[in-house]
Amino acid sequence: MTDDLVRCFVCVELGQPVRERLSRWVARFRPMAPELRWVRDDAYHITLKFCGEIPYTHLYKLENALEHGLSLKRIRAFPLELAGVGAFPGFRQPRVLWAGIGGEDYQVQRVASVVESAAVAAGIEREKRPFHPHVTLARVPPTAELPVGVLREMNNSSGSWGEWSVSSITLMRSELLPEGPRYTPISILEFSNDLEVQ
Ligand code: ATP
Ligand code: MG
Repeated sequence: MTDDLVRCFVCVELGQPVRERLSRWVARFRPMAPELRWVRDDAYHITLKFCGEIPYTHLYKLENALEHGLSLKRIRAFPLELAGVGAFPGFRQPRVLWAGIGGEDYQVQRVASVVESAAVAAGIEREKRPFHPHVTLARVPPTAELPVGVLREMNNSSGSWGEWSVSSITLMRSELLPEGPRYTPISILEFSNDLEVQ
């Protein structure tokens, strides 16, 4: 018997007004750098845990742990601000352009570590690199010439795209298609909705 594989990740989705503001800002630069692979605005997200291609048995274990485990239920909705741009590994040799988190990121760090633990318990490989919460805006193909002016303008004109309340995380399926990745929610996992508890 074969166990089919599924490519998936766990992420925070953006609040709609924040997504729209970010999208309008990005739209100014897109035509100036068509050689970049720009992410569609409906695909914007903050990855908490990239699982890679995993057997369905691992996916079900992870989903079950996140849905029924206590850890996620101990987390209450928190505000998150999207602000500033950055590049991996850096602006000198950028491979990925991203929008960052404004202010303290300890709450999103905490959710990411809950998800990491659940994933490892479900048999998924542990992430070795440190967690840097971000929204990927564009990828720079290895052969593309660097749009230095555009990068400078993005850097100079970025600000805050506002705040939203994070009250759930999404387990997302990713299919890599020739026209770009297609993301489909598998399940939405709510934090505690008990607003009375201190
Ligand atoms: P493509 O691979 O065609 O560039 P993509 O990166 O958007 O598409 P996936 O590779 O399925 O699609 O990744 C889904 C999400 O997980 C993206 O936000 C991506 O940046 C992130 N991601 C991918 N690989 C890793 C990794 N090794 N560690 C952490 N996050 C990752
Ligand atoms: Mg990828």
